Amino acid sequence: MSVNTIEIKNKVYKILSEIPDPEIPVVNIVEMGMIADVLINENEPIVVQMMPTYTACPATWQIQSDIEKELNKNNLLAKVEIVYSPAWTTDRISKEALKKLEKYGIAPPQNGVTIHALMNADYKITCPHCGSMNTELISTFGSTPCKALFRCQHCKEPFDYFKCHL
Ligand SMILES: [Zn+2]
Repeated sequence: MSVNTIEIKNKVYKILSEIPDPEIPVVNIVEMGMIADVLINENEPIVVQMMPTYTACPATWQIQSDIEKELNKNNLLAKVEIVYSPAWTTDRISKEALKKLEKYGIAPPQNGVTIHALMNADYKITCPHCGSMNTELISTFGSTPCKALFRCQHCKEPFDYFKCHL
């Protein structure tokens, strides 16, 4: 890779890290682990490989258009390629982003608890508001298909749980 290529790549990542997740505006798409790679070839549009967090997430198309728009604004011609394999997992979320999710009131993914596990077992998810383990599942779908809705028995607040991969 030439120095120029590295510079462009850094610039692209910098712009991408200013694009918020449309569903969770406190985190950006880079720290959510949604950018698989950025490919730069001379005289060709930049290819941003993006991993959707969940295939059912309608936000995927929104993010794709945001990426192209923001890069175009910076005179970078780019196209987005959606990558399904390898699939995005919650392990790709950065530690910083996990903290932000919790502050925002979304319980981050815990120990691989998937949608199936939520439906089939009595899992205890820690309340992001007060830290109590005394919580109950209200709905396997929360404010978006990516999340499940819980209520804390202790502080009585409802909260979203960011589900691990389907
Ligand atoms: Zn609570």
